Parts: sequence; C-alpha cells; structure tokens
Amino acid sequence: MELLSDKVIVLKSSPFEERSLIVQALSENHGRVSAIAKNGIQSKRFGGALNTFSASQWSFSRKSEHQLYFLKEATILNSFHAIRHDLQQFALASALNELLLKIVQPNQPTTKLFQLHSNTLSLIDLGACRDQERLVFNHFFSRILIWMGLYPQWSTCLHCKEALSEAPKNQQIVGVEKEIGWVHGECQNEQWTSDGTVMSFFPETMLSIYLMLNQPIRVALENTRPQTKDHHRFMHYLTRIGAYHIPGLDQMPLKSLELIV
Ligand SMILES: [Zn+2]
Repeated sequence: MELLSDKVIVLKSSPFEERSLIVQALSENHGRVSAIAKNGIQSKRFGGALNTFSASQWSFSRKSEHQLYFLKEATILNSFHAIRHDLQQFALASALNELLLKIVQPNQPTTKLFQLHSNTLSLIDLGACRDQERLVFNHFFSRILIWMGLYPQWSTCLHCKEALSEAPKNQQIVGVEKEIGWVHGECQNEQWTSDGTVMSFFPETMLSIYLMLNQPIRVALENTRPQTKDHHRFMHYLTRIGAYHIPGLDQMPLKSLELIV
C-alpha cells in the first residue's frame, strides 16, 4: 500500500458511522480525493484540518483504485478561520467549494485549480472580497471555464465576425451559451438563440467585465468598481454556459449562491 502525501483544501466533510468522517478535498496533485478519517469526529489528532475550507498537508493511502483513501495524518496549514464568521464570505467560499465538487474528477491534474482556490480563499479570509462577492465568483468561474476549454470567445460576433469592440454604444451584445460566445443584438437569429432570458449587455459594460476577468483577481478587486447588477447578470451567463456544457451542473444551481445578497 503506497503512502501518498499532498496538500489539500477540504471541500466537504460528512459524518460516517458514529465517529468517522468522509472528507472530500481538492488536492494539489491528485485531483479531487475522497478519504475516510477513522475516529475523525472525536479524535484530536486531526485538529481543525478536516473542517470545510481548511488547507492541510495529508498523508493517505488506499488498497485499490476503487476504494476511498484512508487518511493517516493531516496537519493544518491554514484554517481560513475568518470565512466562517461572516455569512456573505461563507456563502461565497461555499459556492466555490460546491462548484469544484461538481466539476473536478478524481485523478485529474489540478495544480492550477488548487492554486486558484487557495489564493481566492486567502483573499476571502482577509476580507478583500467583501461587497464584491459576485465579481470574485465570476472571476473564479471564468478561470474554471478556461481550465475546461470552455472560455467564451469575446473578440468577434459569432454571426458577422466583426469586432465586438467596434459595436455602436447603444447596440446590445447578446451572450449565447450554446456556442460560448456573443453576437450583436441585430445579428441574433434562430441559430444564435439563447434559452430563457436573453443575456444582453452594452459594449461598454461588456468591455469592463472583459478587462476585469483578464486581470489577476487582486488587481481586479483594487481597480474595478463594476455595477453589482451587471455582475449579477454576467453570473447568469456563466452559470448557463456551465449548465449547458458541463455534465453535473445542469439542473443543479449552486445553492450557496442564493445566500449572496
Ligand atoms: Zn454581428
């Protein structure tokens, strides 16, 4: 039985039998891992390392590929303690965890996602995301879409191929989730249709969202003061891309998002 060691962030921890825990975590090098922590509920040997959001160093093993990992040791690196003391920050961090639980598979290479999640939780923990929860969620979700090869095509209209940045100020630009891109309002037809409510933005709004998404999150938080309502609508566009293209996200909205006001 091979003994593995990796850094992880706990996504979800559930009681199992009377005293054990089943912990699902995002690891730096082993994808999403599910492990059983025997006597994890009462035992002090894990400290707070198995609490949701905790980053820790794990030693773990398993007998065969189809079994849960068996957690031997967990040493806490960062508890991200402050996240649990503010409902909005808790809701945001929980939405990120929910999203990762739905999309990351076991044994997928996740080093970039691990860094992204760890950086984002640090910012949330520091209070740097307060009142910009939707911006942070959209930024995070966009990075996930890039990671999955599903990032929207921003530069040209899907229909007429002209640059969207040249669109007249008063002409709406419409998000098309099926083709993962945008069309001019006047180019929208049966081919470039959207399910449900049409997601349309003025070019100026779209440009400011585009710039925000292409900055590192720390810079975006300092520079951008976008309108909350625009981020709210953009969040719908991204979640609809997810629902359309990512198995597991369809018909299952992220519950924690509803807590963000
Ligand atoms: Zn067009």
